[in-house]
Amino acid sequence: MTPLLSRKDFIKSSSILLAGSSLMSCSSVLAVNQPDADEQTGYISTGDTLTLKNVRLETGFEYEEGEVTGTKTDLFTLEISEDKIKAILPNNPNARAIDAKGLLLLPAFKDMHIHLDKTFYGGPWQARRKKNRTVQDMIAYEQQVLPDMLKTSTHRAEKIIELLQFHGANFARSHVNIEPTSKLDSLKNLQLALENKKDSFSAELVAFPQHGIFHSDSQQLMKEAATMGIDYIGGLDPHAIDGNLEKSMDFVLQLALDHNKGIDIHLHEGGESGLRTVEYLIDQVNENPELKGKTFLSHCFVLARLEQRKLDEVAEKLGNAKIGIISTIPFGNTIMPIPTLYRYGVDVRTGNDSIIDHWNTFGSGSVLQKANLMAQLYGYSTELELSRCLKLATHNILPLDDKGNQQWPKAGDKADLVLVDASCSAEAVSRVSPVKSLLHQGKVVY
Ligand SMILES: [Zn+2]
Repeated sequence: MTPLLSRKDFIKSSSILLAGSSLMSCSSVLAVNQPDADEQTGYISTGDTLTLKNVRLETGFEYEEGEVTGTKTDLFTLEISEDKIKAILPNNPNARAIDAKGLLLLPAFKDMHIHLDKTFYGGPWQARRKKNRTVQDMIAYEQQVLPDMLKTSTHRAEKIIELLQFHGANFARSHVNIEPTSKLDSLKNLQLALENKKDSFSAELVAFPQHGIFHSDSQQLMKEAATMGIDYIGGLDPHAIDGNLEKSMDFVLQLALDHNKGIDIHLHEGGESGLRTVEYLIDQVNENPELKGKTFLSHCFVLARLEQRKLDEVAEKLGNAKIGIISTIPFGNTIMPIPTLYRYGVDVRTGNDSIIDHWNTFGSGSVLQKANLMAQLYGYSTELELSRCLKLATHNILPLDDKGNQQWPKAGDKADLVLVDASCSAEAVSRVSPVKSLLHQGKVVY
């Protein structure tokens, strides 16, 4: 058994380099707690295998009169090799291994809607401006402020990534502005940040025509972006911003088909045109089944305004066409019908969207908090219901199935993991329990 890295080297090699921050001060949870462990040799591996002991895993539900009243857990030893879980073994508290100290192991979290490329985070505090009421106002405002924001956008993207990691996410789907003001620079700056963070964080990118494809004449830039390592073609309110639903949607659909990409469209607009956009997309995806499972509508507030019968019809069609909905779980008078979407098998995902920027300043960086908000908003308060809400943060991976059978982790699963200070998933969701460590592709990064 040989020490993998000294504690100092580990911290140097980790991407969480927030010197002097609170992050650093609590990053020691995975230090080896061994009587013979040298202060300088805190992290242990055997050859290529990383071993964790005292790892808490959920093993089943406790029942009383047929109701789930608690979650059973036990301690295990985990072996991780390269980017996978190699073995889950009975716990050996005396093993020379990294001590997880009884913390609960969960799948690492995923932020599925964020704008890493334009943020005030990492710079001075600034609230949203009152004059920016509509999406059109925001477009005009962005045309003024983006040239300045681009000067710091790589650094600030890295800061947001560190915030996401601190809250247990090792993956994000980031929209990135493609418009004549930023041209392709927002994309290039973000790709540089992701390159700098590639050992500790992964992302997929959406080419996002924030100023309207036709409204701002962004077609050529979008076509170029499609060849630059992005994963999804974005869109924005095709009727309200571009003034022609079919023309705008057809551009997005054709670009995605030509380059074998997915689709993720920001749809804020409601009313008749909002609904027509949803139905048009469903029809097009059904005609082009290669888009099933990789087409998404972000926000899609129009669903919050439909009467139940129409909602059931649309939700069923979305489920059948495998079109996902990405919601930031808005409060106020726009309550998204997430329980109905789940009922029809729609892939529901969440993200922080804005952390601190000119759109809003409320993103905490935690998708576990989004799961908590969902639980509060829809009244999911029992042990079983709370435990199910975790799937919003982990993108549908749950340690226990609905009957309490252990389904995660299994040998061979990806070693993208978090350790949280909670006794079970239900508590983690309800208390937004603190994340104590993050493993990305088998490596401790926080
Ligand atoms: Zn967005």
